Amino acid sequence: MNKTILKKSLYIGGSYVEGSSYKSLRSPHSGEVIAEIPVGTREDMRRAIDHAAEAAKVMAKTPAHQRAAILQNVSLLLKERKEEAARILTLEAAKPLSVARGEIARTIETYQFAADEARRLHGETIPMDASAMGENRIAYTVRRPVGIVGAITPFNFPFNLVAHKLGPAFAAGNPVILKPADQTPLSAFFIAELFEQAGLPAGALQVVTGRGSEVGDELVCDERVKVITFTGSPEVGKSIREKAGLKRVVLELGSNSGLIIDEGFDIDPIIKRTVTGAFTYMGQVCISLQRIFVHRSLYDTFVDKFVAETKNLRIGDPGDETTDIAALISQKDVERIASWVKEAEESGARVLTGGVENNVVKPTVIVDAAPEAKVCAKETFAPVVVITPFDTFEEAIDAVNDSTYGLQAGVYTNSMEHAFQAAELLDVGGVMINDFPTFRVDQMPYGGVKESGVGREGIKYATEEMTELKLVCFNRNR
Ligand code: NAP
Repeated sequence: MNKTILKKSLYIGGSYVEGSSYKSLRSPHSGEVIAEIPVGTREDMRRAIDHAAEAAKVMAKTPAHQRAAILQNVSLLLKERKEEAARILTLEAAKPLSVARGEIARTIETYQFAADEARRLHGETIPMDASAMGENRIAYTVRRPVGIVGAITPFNFPFNLVAHKLGPAFAAGNPVILKPADQTPLSAFFIAELFEQAGLPAGALQVVTGRGSEVGDELVCDERVKVITFTGSPEVGKSIREKAGLKRVVLELGSNSGLIIDEGFDIDPIIKRTVTGAFTYMGQVCISLQRIFVHRSLYDTFVDKFVAETKNLRIGDPGDETTDIAALISQKDVERIASWVKEAEESGARVLTGGVENNVVKPTVIVDAAPEAKVCAKETFAPVVVITPFDTFEEAIDAVNDSTYGLQAGVYTNSMEHAFQAAELLDVGGVMINDFPTFRVDQMPYGGVKESGVGREGIKYATEEMTELKLVCFNRNR
């Protein structure tokens, strides 16, 4: 029996436009073709930018209460269709269903936060007479929309990370051109449909699929685009920054997040949570727990309990309710991570549990790895965690900081002094005291230092990035 394959179109200027060529989108789990996706061209992207320039004028005149209402409508519409949305994630990204449902619940909230932010956006009055030259002047600032926003997104949270770009951009009154990751375009088309239904003006959201190096590059290089908001790998992030010219660039990049478990901490209640931090969505999370540093007095017990809990994770079809671990996003990534684990073993590391089965990397726990081994020093973006003992707290802080990345870090400690020390000395964008580094809620400021990025997301912070601060000054001197 022939199955009908879904054929998608580019979404440009409020219309669905056929692509000049198409690419088959395959399920990472089954390898089956699940849709035909248009391969947009540079010309398609230039057309989208033309439309966005028109939509920018409409959006700039759309009052805050209307922008808020649109965002709130999207949040409600997504709530109504949440199961369908979760199934899209399972299909195109092999995200286990329970994790996919969690992402949709967060996305519903993220759009709600954006609606709130649209209503709250404001400037301030400036105390002009604080300077003798400012006497008899009244000045205030307003936050104006910046203009066209180019959003380039990764495969791993295709609903919620897209919401972290669309929500703030619309809250601030800007149009957006979205270039989703090659593997996850269906979620992008789905959300565009909801925005259309929610009353967003035509052309204010456009979705252009295609190669990052072509349509993404065109978006980055066009001078009419005022902000590039990118989430993805450091390699691509750096190349975008080099090409973006004077436009504002927000980069949310990778990490090899570290966790310290201090002397005397009761480890039993945190075993499940640390296993979750390391292996949720097969470690394909930017703040996935990759390096665990445990005080030597707790090390052996922690390792035994962590490995035992890891072995309870269920491998299977991402569409099954009970599956914890499914296929990695691509065979290329399976091969990459297998070679990194082999390299670590060759230099003396021991794999306590793990292995590869077809397109699945089993949750892998490594000990005795050298800090310069790729499984420690680079971002694995796979279900691989390394556990290392330490003797002094200072040593543990140095070990977490010994990284080219700095997104978030976690510390479990009973010592107030150590907690303050960690808060002060960890060179990261966010420090989680008595939690894993994988903690995030969507209103908090979120972003990294070093190769983990530039700028902050979290709705309020990202909305500010998508505005221009304008000063208005009245002179009352005659
Ligand atoms: P990626 O390969 O860097 O791709 C991200 C996006 O960039 C995709 O849409 C991609 O398009 C596009 N792209 C590729 N080359 C480009 C170019 N030359 N110019 C413009 N755009 C280009 O990342 P990924 O594999 O999808 O995602 C994994 C990475 O994202 C990890 O490093 C992870 O840590 C990071 N991440 C960070 C955060 C955070 O908030 N800090 C959150 C999630 C993920 P194609 O797919 O068409 O190539």
